[in-house]
Amino acid sequence: MKRTKLYLGGEWVQPTGSDVLEVENPATEQIIGVVPAAGAADVDRAVHAARDAFPAWSGMSPRQRAEYLDRLWQGLHRRRDDIARTITMELGTPLKVATAIQAGLPLTVLRGYADLAESYEFTERIGHSLILKEPIGVVAAITPWNYPLHQMIAKVAPALLAGCTVVLKPAELTPFVAYLLADAVHEAELPAGVFNLVCGPGPVAGAALAVHPGVDMVSFTGSTEVGKRISVLAAENVKKVALELGGKSANVILDDADLTAAVKVGVGNALLNAGQTCMAWTRMLVPHSRYEQALELAAAAAGKYPVGNPMLEGTRLGPLSSARQRSSVLAHIETGLSQGARLVAGGDEVPPHGHYVPATVLADVKPDDVVAQEEIFGPVLAVIPFGDDDEAVSIANNSRYGLSGAVWSGDEERALAVAHRLQTGSVDINGAAFNPQAPFGGYKQSGIGRELGRYGLEEFLQTKAIQR
Ligand code: NAD
Repeated sequence: MKRTKLYLGGEWVQPTGSDVLEVENPATEQIIGVVPAAGAADVDRAVHAARDAFPAWSGMSPRQRAEYLDRLWQGLHRRRDDIARTITMELGTPLKVATAIQAGLPLTVLRGYADLAESYEFTERIGHSLILKEPIGVVAAITPWNYPLHQMIAKVAPALLAGCTVVLKPAELTPFVAYLLADAVHEAELPAGVFNLVCGPGPVAGAALAVHPGVDMVSFTGSTEVGKRISVLAAENVKKVALELGGKSANVILDDADLTAAVKVGVGNALLNAGQTCMAWTRMLVPHSRYEQALELAAAAAGKYPVGNPMLEGTRLGPLSSARQRSSVLAHIETGLSQGARLVAGGDEVPPHGHYVPATVLADVKPDDVVAQEEIFGPVLAVIPFGDDDEAVSIANNSRYGLSGAVWSGDEERALAVAHRLQTGSVDINGAAFNPQAPFGGYKQSGIGRELGRYGLEEFLQTKAIQR
C-alpha cells in the first residue's frame, strides 16, 4: 500500500517535502505501506483551500449539502469491505468487528446526518428575534486511530452539513482508511476545497492546524494530554475547541442484578477492540456479597477471548495497535500487581510476532490504584468491590474522567437513580444498546462538547440573533 499525495482543493497534489510515515500491521509487525508526512506548508495550503471553498459551500442550502453527503455515503458503502480490511491491517481489529463496527457505524452516522437536513431547523424565532444557526467556518478535524473512520465521520459529516469546510488530519497509525474516505469524497464530486486531507505527525501537522489563524474551530478526539495542548494552541486566536478525550468508565453492578449477564457483557465491553475504546467500561464495580462469584464469571468470560490473527473469522481479540501501546499496557499490568492486585485472568503466552496482550482481569483493585485511575487502553479489566449503592456511586465518580458507564439492577428505577448520580456523559442500563443519535461526550477531563446526532451538528454552528 502506498499513497504519495495529499488531497487539497479537490485534487491529489504532491506534498511540499519528501518525508513519509510508515504504517505497520500490528499483527505481523511488517511495514505495509507509506503515506506522505505533511508539514506546516502543506497544512497552510489545505487551510487556504478550505477557506476559499467556504463562501460557496456555506451559501448552499442544507438540503443541497445533504445530497453530497448521500453520495458520499454511497461511495463509502461500496467500499465497506475494503474499509474493514484496511482497518484490520492498520490497527488489528478483528475483521468481523471491523466490518460490523469500524465500517458499519460510520455509515450509520453519515446516513443520519444526510437525513437530518430534512428535519433540523436552522432558523428559530424567540419573541421579536430571528435566530440564525450559521456554520462556524473552517474546521480542523484531528482524529485518533482506535475507531478511525467513525471518528472522522463523526466530525466531517456534521461539519459539512452545517456548512463548514474541513481539513482532516488523521492519526499516524491509521492513515490508509482516511485515503479511502478522500477517494469517496472525490468520487462524490464534493466542490473543491470542501474536504482536504493532510496526513502528518501530530506535533507538526496537528499543531500547525491548531495554531493556524485561518482555522475557526478544532474538533479533536484523542488523549486528554494532547487535548490540553491543543486547547492552549487554539487559544491564540480564540478558536472554538471541541474535545473528545479519554475515559475510565465504571460498570456498576448492583446486588439485585443478573450477575451472569452483567459480567459477560461487561467483560466483552472492556475487551472490544482489544480494550482500545475510549468509552470502555474498564472498572467493574461489584458488591462484596457477590464479589468472588463475579470474579469466577469474569475469568470464564475472559477465557473466551484468546488472542488470534485478526484476519481469521473466529478471532475476538486481536493485537494492540503498536509496540508502544503494548509496552504501556504491560507496564500498567505490572504496576497493578505491584500495588496488590490479584491476576484472575491473563498472563497467557502470546504469539512471538504481533503486539498481543492476553485478556487480563485484575481483582482486589483499590479505587485509588493506578490501574483504577489511569486509562490503560488495553484488554485489562479492574474489578473493585463495594458495600452499598452510595459507595458504588462514590467509587464510580472517583475519576478525573467521565465519558461513559453502566448500571445493572433487577429494579430499573433503582438503576436509574444511580445513573442520575454518575458524573459521566453517558450511562447504559442493563446492557441497553449504543444509540448513534444520542449525544456522546465527556464530563470532567473526558472532554468539551458533544458528538453525534443533533447535538453533534450544533457543535459546528454558531447563532446570530436579529431583532426587528
Ligand atoms: P493522541 O492524543 O496521541 O492523538 C490523537 C491525534 O492527535 C492524532 O491525530 C495525533 O497525530 C494528533 N496529535 C498528537 N500530538 C499532537 C499535537 N501536539 N498537536 C496536535 N495534534 C497532535 O491519541 P491516540 O493515541 O491517537 O488515541 C488514543 C486516545 O484517544 C485515548 O486516550 C482515547 O481515550 C482517546 N479517544 C477518545 C475518544 C472520545 O470520543 N472521547 C474516542 C477515541 C479515542
